[in-house]
Amino acid sequence: MTKGWGARTQAIHAGRGRSGHGETSEAIFLTSGFVYAEAEMAEDRFRDRRPGFLYSRYGNPTVRVFEERMMALEGAEEACAVASGMAAVHAALVCGVRQGMRVVGSRLLFGSCRYILTDILPRYGVETELVDGADTDAWARALARPADMVFFETPGNPTLELVDCAAVCGLAKRAGARVVVDNVFATPLLQKPLDLGADVVVYSATKHIDGQGRCLGGVVLGSKAFKDDLLHPYLKHTGPSLSPFNAWVLLKGLETLDLRLRQHCENALQVARFLEDHPGVERVLYPGIESHPQHALARRQMKAGGSVLAFRVGGGKDRAFEVLNRLRLVAISNNLGDAKSLVTHPATTTHSKLAAGERAALGITDDLIRLSVGLEDAEDILGDLDQALRG
Ligand SMILES: *Cc1c(COP(=O)(O)O)cnc(C)c1O
Repeated sequence: MTKGWGARTQAIHAGRGRSGHGETSEAIFLTSGFVYAEAEMAEDRFRDRRPGFLYSRYGNPTVRVFEERMMALEGAEEACAVASGMAAVHAALVCGVRQGMRVVGSRLLFGSCRYILTDILPRYGVETELVDGADTDAWARALARPADMVFFETPGNPTLELVDCAAVCGLAKRAGARVVVDNVFATPLLQKPLDLGADVVVYSATKHIDGQGRCLGGVVLGSKAFKDDLLHPYLKHTGPSLSPFNAWVLLKGLETLDLRLRQHCENALQVARFLEDHPGVERVLYPGIESHPQHALARRQMKAGGSVLAFRVGGGKDRAFEVLNRLRLVAISNNLGDAKSLVTHPATTTHSKLAAGERAALGITDDLIRLSVGLEDAEDILGDLDQALRG
């Protein structure tokens, strides 16, 4: 019914229809289980002979609306929603993994994603190799040998480095690998990994999809075969289910995602340009401006630069902390994609577990500040940054 509709319409209408009450907003089916009119019906549902819900760990009507809406936005055949972004990344990577497999990932990753690749998978006899994600030749070298899975995020956290999605997906295909892309920074509205050759896309719905700091959530999108054969069986037996209430919150978030994201991107672009000219700033990293080393690639694979940027203030940790502590409107928090502008110091928080040498190799210097630009009046964000940087 939603074929041919634009993304904004999909974000508001895609998914299952109304219940018998004709409610305007989607109903919250806050129920753990379902009852059957007769024993035969229960038997049929368990045998997949009749459609219908069995138990909310397997599926839930409100959660399903969220999944169907995400499928429409992403252009994916299937989706499974889960309780957090990390549950999504974990399930996407682990549901098909076996001893002896080989996984290639980019080095610049959200901390917990990196932990799955470097600490969890090797315990189960999976070989993992991390490469410089921005260097397509490095991917080509790693994928000259057969591989089973490829994982990356683009733009990457916190330096906004990009991976050439189409090029890496091509290399991965030849190596026999399934490509899983963490598309959190771009959202389905700014970047479509499936169109660029990826097999599976994962989101932390906690970020822009909720976008208002209320709840955690995650979603994995891919083919029907991937869902039926690997993903759904893994989830239904391990249980990281999304609460129907949180699914409803995320649905309400989707209805305004396009509107919010446009404003996020507009504000972030203004902030990036302002910081570029500011005497208190040494370097700005934002895919949406010409000075980003991969700006041409950003223009090819993204519709806009996104809500997050990073900048270096020089002078090391003390100077960075000074700037953070002087901010009055922008709050110190490690979340991102929120209506509120949030700032973090990656070296001492999100990326503090990495060895100093590894941080340096990734460009996560002690003077680097990551800023998730919110939806406030741009002049107020600029004013707050200006007074903090002038102190
Ligand atoms: C936040 C985030 C995650 C994890 O999501 P949670 O909802 O916090 O579990 C994974 N990947 C990226 C890129 C993120 O920003």
